[in-house]
Amino acid sequence: MSLNLILLGLPGAGKGTQAQYIVDKYPIPHISTGDMFREAMANKTPMGLKAKEFIDKGDLVPDDVTNGIVKDRLGNADTKDGFLLDGYPRTLEQANALAEMTDVLNKPLNAVINIDVDPNLLTERLSSRFICRNCGATYNKLYHMPKVEDTCDVCGHHEFYQRDDDKPEAVKNRLDVNIKMNTPLIAYYKERNLLYNVDGNNSIDDVWQQIDSILSSL
Ligand code: AMP
Repeated sequence: MSLNLILLGLPGAGKGTQAQYIVDKYPIPHISTGDMFREAMANKTPMGLKAKEFIDKGDLVPDDVTNGIVKDRLGNADTKDGFLLDGYPRTLEQANALAEMTDVLNKPLNAVINIDVDPNLLTERLSSRFICRNCGATYNKLYHMPKVEDTCDVCGHHEFYQRDDDKPEAVKNRLDVNIKMNTPLIAYYKERNLLYNVDGNNSIDDVWQQIDSILSSL
C-alpha cells in the first residue's frame, strides 16, 4: 500500500523534524513547499524571486504558483510508494487543487496528521530557530543546539543564519496568517475522515511515538 500523507501544523510545530523521522522509516519523499521556495530563492529563479516578495513579509505565496510547483512535484517517479506533504495545502483552494491532483494521479490521501501546539509556545520556538547555511539543517536555541559549538551536526560547517521570516517582526504576522488558514483546513479533512490529531506540546520523541503508531495502524 502506498502512503500518501499530509503533515499539518502551524509554523514551528515541528513538522520538519517529524517529517525527517517519517521519511527515515518509510520510502517516500518529503515534499516541503517552504523548502522548495527557499531553494528557488537561493537559485534566484524567476519563481523564487516572485515568491520572495511574499515570503519575506510572512505572507503566503499566491495559490496558482504554489499549486503549480506541487503538481509538478507529485508527478515525479519517486512518489510511487507515496509522499509526505509538509506546508501544503495551507488554504482551502489549495486543498481542493490537491484533491484534483490526487484524483488525476490516482494517489488518494491516506492520512492527514495535524501536530497541535499552543500558539504561545510557537512564537518563542520560531524566533529561536537557526539554520546551517551549508546544508539547511535546523537548530533551536531553546532545545536543539549543535552537539559541538558552532558546528553543524550534519555537515560540519560553521556558518548559521536565521530565516528572514523567523525574525520577530515577521513571526507574528506569519502565525496570525497561518492560524486563520489552519482552522478551515482541519475541518475540511475531518469531514473527509482523514484527520489524525497529535499533541505537539511535548518532546520530539513523544510526538514521534504518536505519529508512528498512527502510521503503523494505516
Ligand atoms: P514554511 O517553511 O512552510 O514555513 O514556508 C515558508 C514560507 O513559504 C511561508 O511563510 C509562505 O510564505 C511560503 N509558503 C510555503 N508553503 C506555502 C503554501 N502552501 N502556500 C503559500 N505559501 C507557502
